[in-house]
Amino acid sequence: MKLMAKIRQRIGWKLFISYLVIILVGSISLVLTAEFIAPSALDRHMASMAMLMGGDKGGMMGDLTENFRRAINEILLIATLAATATAVVVGSFVTRRIVSPIEEMTRASHRIADGRYDERVLVVGEDELSDLAGAFNQMAYTLAQTEERRRQLIGDVAHELRTPLSSIRSVMEGLIDEVLPAEPTTFLSVQHEVTRLQRLVHDLEELSRAETGQIPLEIELVDPADLVHAAVERLQLQFDDKNVQLSLGLASGLPQIQADTGRMTQVLLNLMGNALQYTPSGGQVFIRAWADEGDVTITIQDNGIGIAPEHLTHIFERFYRVDKSRSRAGGGSGIGLTISKHLVEAHNGHIAATSPGPGQGSTFSITLPAAVH
Ligand code: ADP
Repeated sequence: MKLMAKIRQRIGWKLFISYLVIILVGSISLVLTAEFIAPSALDRHMASMAMLMGGDKGGMMGDLTENFRRAINEILLIATLAATATAVVVGSFVTRRIVSPIEEMTRASHRIADGRYDERVLVVGEDELSDLAGAFNQMAYTLAQTEERRRQLIGDVAHELRTPLSSIRSVMEGLIDEVLPAEPTTFLSVQHEVTRLQRLVHDLEELSRAETGQIPLEIELVDPADLVHAAVERLQLQFDDKNVQLSLGLASGLPQIQADTGRMTQVLLNLMGNALQYTPSGGQVFIRAWADEGDVTITIQDNGIGIAPEHLTHIFERFYRVDKSRSRAGGGSGIGLTISKHLVEAHNGHIAATSPGPGQGSTFSITLPAAVH
């Protein structure tokens, strides 16, 4: 029973036994052939030979037949032993070739399970096993990246929470020690920080849902111009307050797009809100929209602070802010663009940013496929 369990657990033993079965079946069929078919053929041959030689002299034919049989049996025995020895050699070679990489992958997966995400296995050859090793390494790489993102996210969130929390704490301590007066302005500063925390928590929830593709989209046919007008209406007052001029240049007869009105408005509000925030008073924001080769493109161009090329490639990453204090002062968490990117991509669209450089304004563009009727 123990032996059977051992055999069941080892590929090497299974391979060796399958070789033995083949050798056994081959040998048995050869023995049976030598025992039952060869003698009659031999006898016939011997009889015709005896006739030619003028009769069986002194039972020579019988001796010959007997010797021939013995020789065949000896040959079969030697051949079976040689085949078994070959099975042992080939079996151990093939086993090593198959089992070693599998054992290596098993060891590596245990190490990965222990948190060592830099583990990789050697990819040798071009067969299915090397494909498996390649897929294993790819999986390990993805796991390492996910783990790195998780660690970074926790660090970022902790960092984002620290500033408003320490600010609330110092105001509270000031109140307790009676260094700060218990009056509305003091409480307002606490309320401001609490509002920021609430926004951060809300953004984080949105981000987590957007990153896992869990934001349900209510897709309908939408006129892109309606989306822009709705967003403009919501922000016009704030533009007026800051004295930033908002102009529109929408092509007429834009094709409809398939979009979730609420979510696409959210994206436009984020881009327009940023344009307003990063454009000084007296500046301008220009929104254009046009259709081209089955796509609708909406751009939001400002003549504000601009973005340096080294930052441009990162601004869609979560928590990335070019000027942390400036963004924070405006209540920014550095997540808005990340969420917008996910939302646009969930609509099969594309979002991009360009800027000639600091102080020279920025342009954000969204491209979405036009609906086919
Ligand atoms: P935030 O909440 O900080 O604005 P976003 O994800 O919306 O976060 O933007 C990320 C960063 O990209 C901002 O902190 C800012 O540095 C930069 N940015 C976004 N829009 C503009 C813009 N129109 N002009 C200049 N910089 C911008």
